[in-house]
Amino acid sequence: MKSNAWDWKTFDKEHLWHPYSSILNPSPVSPVIGAEGVELILENGVRLIDGMASWWAVIHGYNHPVLNKALHAQIDRFPHVMFGGLSHEPAAELGRQLLDITPNSLDHIFFADSGSISVEVALKMAIQCWAGRGHPEKNKILTVRGGYYGDTLAPMSVCDPINGMHHLFSAILPKQHFVEAPFQGDNPASNEDLEKFSDAIATHHASTAAVIIEPLVQGAGGMRIYRADYLRGVAKLCKEHDVLLILDEIATGFGRTGSLFAAEQAEVEPDILCLGKALTGGTMSLAATLVSDKVATDICRSEAGAFMHGPTFMANPLACAVSSASIDLLLEEDWQNGVMSIEKQLRTQLAPCSNLNSVEDVRIKGAIGVVELHNPIDFTEIQNDFVEAGVWIRPFRNLVYIMPPYIITPDQLSRLTDTIFSVLKNRLG
Ligand SMILES: *Cc1c(COP(=O)(O)O)cnc(C)c1O
Repeated sequence: MKSNAWDWKTFDKEHLWHPYSSILNPSPVSPVIGAEGVELILENGVRLIDGMASWWAVIHGYNHPVLNKALHAQIDRFPHVMFGGLSHEPAAELGRQLLDITPNSLDHIFFADSGSISVEVALKMAIQCWAGRGHPEKNKILTVRGGYYGDTLAPMSVCDPINGMHHLFSAILPKQHFVEAPFQGDNPASNEDLEKFSDAIATHHASTAAVIIEPLVQGAGGMRIYRADYLRGVAKLCKEHDVLLILDEIATGFGRTGSLFAAEQAEVEPDILCLGKALTGGTMSLAATLVSDKVATDICRSEAGAFMHGPTFMANPLACAVSSASIDLLLEEDWQNGVMSIEKQLRTQLAPCSNLNSVEDVRIKGAIGVVELHNPIDFTEIQNDFVEAGVWIRPFRNLVYIMPPYIITPDQLSRLTDTIFSVLKNRLG
């Protein structure tokens, strides 16, 4: 055991990578010693109201007794066994629940260990499916710009080519087909974006295994919100051109946009669906790729005769058990009302930000509030301002956004929205 006096923060600064950070010039990090409800507790005793839900995952709040109980119960049985040649009830129970709540088109579940891997799995499934159907030439992916699907190489190849940093890895990234991003907003003046998608799929379908898209909200690629009928149009065009549809609901799943899954608002049923982030209620890393029976069957008709993927920690029992508890908790609660009242409050309380000179756009969808600035900001400085004001908000590029736990109270949410307004006004005008 290290003594309390151990200077772990200096060790952290000198030796640990943080996300998207430089070893030469590490950005400051705040030491956390606890987390409860909607609050993060810092080492100096300060409590921050959390607007991020730890990258959108902690939907029920931190240290939730029901989730902790599920974790303890499974630890006492067994925290992990391999999934090759063995199985366990927590995986089956979670699978049953997921099939219950996701679109009817889906029948089979692959449990992966992170969102990026569930996207890798989805892409491999699509390509293996077409190989099984005797069309190995259908091996490209068509997608819209502005997307984010994870940081491993295959997901990166479909992330937005500009902010996804394709130029750094262009030598090894597979070349995919890209279409302009969908227009933002509920009522665009035209369907020109969908026409462009239609042209692209007509041109490329013969070489395309699947379309991948985030339904209704493009997350880390730019926090863009688009209309349901665009997604409906995409799904229809995929069917017409014999291209599979992969929906990435890793960010939007489990109620975030106001329906349990965002695709419900477009009445779209995918061939393949990726889930992650809030799946475990934000307690552990787990993701799932769900696939239709037809696609699953054709995958296994391919030369390999099986689906060729199997992570070491596949279907980790601890993560499965806590996911089941999190889904039960969500369905027992009046989550939809909670998310809708967050949306209503965000609409009124973030609106004043539109009057600031630095602000380009304010947009809201479900429990997601986004303030887009004209220019990128120094997020280290602005993050400091937020911490000093007692809130946890971590902007990226020119985007200040919140995706709080659903249990946030109106007062706590007002603290977040008031602070966004005052920090932006004071720092940028
Ligand atoms: C976060 C995210 C991923 C990647 O998930 P990780 O667990 O970080 O690998 C993929 N797609 C979307 C839409 C995401 O928001």
